[in-house]
Amino acid sequence: ENLPADKNLENSRRQVENAVFSYVFPKKTSNPKVLHVSKEMAAELGICEEETKTNFFKNIVTGNKIYPETKPYAMCYAGHQFGNWAGQLGDGRAINLFEIEHENKNWKVQLKGAGETPYSRTADGLAVLRSSIREYLCSEAMFYLGIPTTRALSLSLSGDQVLRDVLYDGNPAYEKGAIVARTAPSFLRFGNFEIFAARNDVKNLKILTDYTIKYHFSYLGNPSKETYIDFFKEVSERTLQMIIDWQRVGFVHGVMNTDNMSILGLTIDYGPYGWLEGFDFGWTPNTTDRQNKRYRYGHQPNIGLWNLYQLANALYPLIKETKPLEEILNQYKVDFEKKSLQMMQFKLGLYTDDKEDLKLIQDLEDNLHLTETDMTIFFRSLSNSNEALLTLNVIKDAFYHLEDLSGEIKSRWNLWFQNYSERLKKETLSYQQRKEKMDAVNPKYVLRNYMAQLAINKANEGDYSLIDEFFQLLKKPYEEQPQNEKWFAKRPEWARNKVGCSM
Ligand code: AMP
Ligand code: MG
Ligand code: MG
Repeated sequence: ENLPADKNLENSRRQVENAVFSYVFPKKTSNPKVLHVSKEMAAELGICEEETKTNFFKNIVTGNKIYPETKPYAMCYAGHQFGNWAGQLGDGRAINLFEIEHENKNWKVQLKGAGETPYSRTADGLAVLRSSIREYLCSEAMFYLGIPTTRALSLSLSGDQVLRDVLYDGNPAYEKGAIVARTAPSFLRFGNFEIFAARNDVKNLKILTDYTIKYHFSYLGNPSKETYIDFFKEVSERTLQMIIDWQRVGFVHGVMNTDNMSILGLTIDYGPYGWLEGFDFGWTPNTTDRQNKRYRYGHQPNIGLWNLYQLANALYPLIKETKPLEEILNQYKVDFEKKSLQMMQFKLGLYTDDKEDLKLIQDLEDNLHLTETDMTIFFRSLSNSNEALLTLNVIKDAFYHLEDLSGEIKSRWNLWFQNYSERLKKETLSYQQRKEKMDAVNPKYVLRNYMAQLAINKANEGDYSLIDEFFQLLKKPYEEQPQNEKWFAKRPEWARNKVGCSM
């Protein structure tokens, strides 16, 4: 049962015709070492801290041992990548180990980077330390920001070297291999539905959809055409809410392909993601997408809708009517306008209705683009003064080039602050009450791109301390942490354009 991957045919790559999933074995690692465990996630699974320090735990989360009487598998899915149909994909470097039931919750546990599967295509099924640190830290940080996400249980070194690039001198560049054990109630993606629609396999499409509804949307009731429509509506609403949350905190996913869209509306696949430094609707962290910028910050809500169209097409054979699906997709647009306005109002501490708010917010967004202005610092600093004392001075730390601010830019900002102060006078909450509410939606600490890079640089030298420092910091993203004030800071100049795509 524990054959090494190279001795079992099940892992060999191929087009897996008609498959829903394939049984696979994780690859044995040469010298596994657990670098970090999310104790909180372990506790969710009913695993106590002592247990996470055992060899048994280490062997399970690095794929060296298969939990008794379980059968790891890789899922088959398809997807639209960068706007084009990509056909069959699948878990190419993820292996599902088992499910854990604890306190009435069901979790799937999956290894990322544990070796090839039939779906690995031309790649190796492995992951390097840098991408694993990024996924590990960011997915847990996202959870503590209150944004739906897959989670992480552990980060480990495999002890093996992974080839990722060939250097200009022709020498191979090896990096430390790593494995993240990640968890979610389900890892199903839009692409899991698309594969069956593409194969005209309505039988399995129905089985999968009924399964998903039964275990994850049971409140919708028994399978019927109406239930399938309601299901699509739920997925649409959850997807929108997730993206509104991303916009609120300045998270840019970077690869919103339909195979990276969770059917539960969870943030999934932390590849070349990034966090806004300067507020910029046109920014993307994905260096392979710099031409079209399909997945840029300001475009994420539209891409969510585009992806939902693909899901609607995939579910169509179960519903056989376009109108209800179109209505849901149209509603997404209406809800997006409404929810994004409200999200911005809350960021600004505006809770009473005012027709002028849309204009106030558009003016703000225009101003934020005038010169590089740090999103996190800007919004967090806004709550530092009551309306009478609100001036440009309050947010001056948010400017990357304060010394270069032109007279015109300053006067546009002064005007905006005047309007904003006036607007706040219509609010009924006390300053202190408003500050509390604003600080609860404007994080103080996010995983800035250069921070992840610092943790990676140190880890590559064998020092893993920053991983834990950031892990602890990001557990309380909305709280003041005076001892950690140094991470409430703009990107240093050395990091400009240096930290990008990291797969
Ligand atoms: P992604 O862009 O990360 O969503 O990956 C797209 C597809 O490529 C998915 O089917 C992945 O499983 C697969 N893939 C990505 N990286 C690897 C890798 N290192 N080895 C095998 N398959 C991979
Ligand atoms: Mg993916
Ligand atoms: Mg990926």
